[in-house]
Amino acid sequence: MTASHDTQTVGYPRIGKNRELKRALEAFWKRETDADTLLATFQQVEEDGWRTQRDAGIDHIGVGDATLYDHVLDWSVRLGLIPARFAALQGLDRYFAMARGAEGIPALEMTKWFDTNYHYLVPEITADVSPTAHFAEFLARIQRAQALLGERTVPIVLGPVTMLRLAHLEIPFETALAQWLPLYVELLASLKALGVREVQLHEPALILPDVADSRPQIEAAAAALAAVGLPLNLVIPFDDVGDAFPWIAALPVAGLTLDFTRGETAALLERYGWPADKFLAAGVVDGRSVWRVRGADVLPLLRELAGYATLRLSASCSLQFVPYSAALETALPAPLHDVLAFAEEKLHELVALRETVTAARPWDDSPWERFRAFAPAEVALRQRLASLTAADFSRAEPYAARRPQQLALPPFPLTTIGSFPQTAEVRQLRARFKRGELSEAAYRAALDGWIAYTVGVQEGLGFDVLVHGEFERSDMVEYFAEKLTGFAFTQHGWVQSFGSRYVRPPIIYADVTRPGPMTVREFEVAQSFTRKPVKGMLTGPVTLLNWSFPRTDIPRQEVAFQLALALRAEIADLERAGARVIQVDEPALREGLPFKPDRRAAYLAWTVDAFRLATGGAASATQLHTHMCYAEFGDVLPAIDRLDADVISLENARSGDETLRALAEYGYAREVGPGVYDIHSPVIPDDAFILEKLRVFRRHLADAQIWVNPDCGLKTRTWAEVLPALRALVAAVQRLRAELGKAGQD
Ligand code: GLN
Ligand code: ZN
Repeated sequence: MTASHDTQTVGYPRIGKNRELKRALEAFWKRETDADTLLATFQQVEEDGWRTQRDAGIDHIGVGDATLYDHVLDWSVRLGLIPARFAALQGLDRYFAMARGAEGIPALEMTKWFDTNYHYLVPEITADVSPTAHFAEFLARIQRAQALLGERTVPIVLGPVTMLRLAHLEIPFETALAQWLPLYVELLASLKALGVREVQLHEPALILPDVADSRPQIEAAAAALAAVGLPLNLVIPFDDVGDAFPWIAALPVAGLTLDFTRGETAALLERYGWPADKFLAAGVVDGRSVWRVRGADVLPLLRELAGYATLRLSASCSLQFVPYSAALETALPAPLHDVLAFAEEKLHELVALRETVTAARPWDDSPWERFRAFAPAEVALRQRLASLTAADFSRAEPYAARRPQQLALPPFPLTTIGSFPQTAEVRQLRARFKRGELSEAAYRAALDGWIAYTVGVQEGLGFDVLVHGEFERSDMVEYFAEKLTGFAFTQHGWVQSFGSRYVRPPIIYADVTRPGPMTVREFEVAQSFTRKPVKGMLTGPVTLLNWSFPRTDIPRQEVAFQLALALRAEIADLERAGARVIQVDEPALREGLPFKPDRRAAYLAWTVDAFRLATGGAASATQLHTHMCYAEFGDVLPAIDRLDADVISLENARSGDETLRALAEYGYAREVGPGVYDIHSPVIPDDAFILEKLRVFRRHLADAQIWVNPDCGLKTRTWAEVLPALRALVAAVQRLRAELGKAGQD
């Protein structure tokens, strides 16, 4: 057999091994450096990624995905999608205004990139934009790549279906596709003239369940692009393409890159077969997992695939979702370190897999064997999980029986979502404590000062349920991860969340247990300063899971249940410490929702079960709150209802009254705090604005259901913004209470 099994990548980290791009961007934004300096850093970071891939021996290297802020924004600019409000600006000023807003000009909307934790800027196709090509910069980059990589250079083009499907469209999708397609044809012709051998057309939108609705348009577009005569590699990451498999596999392209790490791609291939004239680039190295390949999982699949098709070995998606290199991590125990594979290690895995499949070089799974001995299962925990019964997933009494036993509060109770401003001073405190410059006693004393101040402010203003402010938390996941077993932390494991914002998710590598209370001290300190009830504040099991890199040797559901049991014990401790109100935040629950409708029910079943396992042990007299940072609820309302939380606070401020309408239509019976103002904006609301919101709430919800709170935590705001905003909340509620009190007496 002469199969060569080429290797390929479809995108690489682009923030710089030492976060060079972040520093360069922030210096540029502060006007400390000029555009040339920024672009020089950008090119260095990009070229460093190219060289790493080349030196690892990758045959087809995806090029052109590196970005100053967001690759989707880059394509908006290249395709002329510049909304009128940015027309007066030029160059980088315009680019960054689209990304971050400018004086009086709102930025493009930002939202999550499929089910990843990356956020992109939503293209806007308004009636006033027209297709205009700005490809010079892209073509110049491809030429730079060719100088370094020669024939290995494969330009990455974000395809028209995805660009337009994700855009805010004021015109029909089909019309937009017809209008913008000629630009793509022009681009492919230019790339052909540069002598590239292949282009990657990235079309993740083809995994969306309703893709078949646009089948004729997509087929016509593919035919028009194929007519240029440049071989196309259709790259479809993040899931399988479902029922669309036969016609998508038949599109006139040279080959396809499919994701074998999610969904059912292997089963679809078995069912439908593979066209003999196309290569299959099998995304078997998971671009979203930090773990080394287990040969036992992947090799049988590869051997089978080789029988079907001209096979390439590929990462399942861009490697932008994992950190640069595990080699940079020097503080992790060897058995754990040896089973990690970040971007650089994944390149070597691709090449090693090829050798295993083509030259029968044995694959070494021994690091996994050593790891299993290093991180054995917690026997007691596993037994507890195995013996759970339905009763563990339910509060002892239904809501109607619980509510009278819970706190009696004034109408329209006032509360906040938990965090208060994370000022430079507060961050400094944590950093100095971490570096050992501050004793634990001094650190705690300083934290307690902030707690006292925050409690005093809330009490003084007239809030009903107070919080301690979360000053001890750098991040709502990391804080808990550090207190639990089974989590590991990297020193350099940064991945881009958006623009210059990078996060360092913890890695869940072993069974999760709770050695001791995690939040009780701060709760007690806060409660010691007031007679008003203080809320205990926890991050929920699904959010802890979804915002970490999970282990993959046991199902996600089992990891979520382990986390749930740890939180359940924490809730019991908080109750013993006197908490009558406890909030379990689940902002990440919805974002893990699978794309395919038939997999949604299963996801919602186990995630809601995890929440119920965490909270089911709470006494009837304990009022359990949850918080979610989004408003698109229509499709998940039954699941939200099944959480059985006594009170739910939601983001609502940016979304008319759709959420309220949906809750009302559903007949949601428990209490709700729809956010009364948008904490993501620096605009400070006044009491008239808040009062108007409350009047809208009252049209949809019963008075007894309504809570009053901001729409998320206040950690990103300043005290100067928070104090007047909270004062406005109280003033509005007082006016409403007075009005209704008087009406009641008449
Ligand atoms: N309790 C958290 C806070 O107030 C909730 C944050 C979130 O929902 N993302 O910051
Ligand atoms: Zn929130």
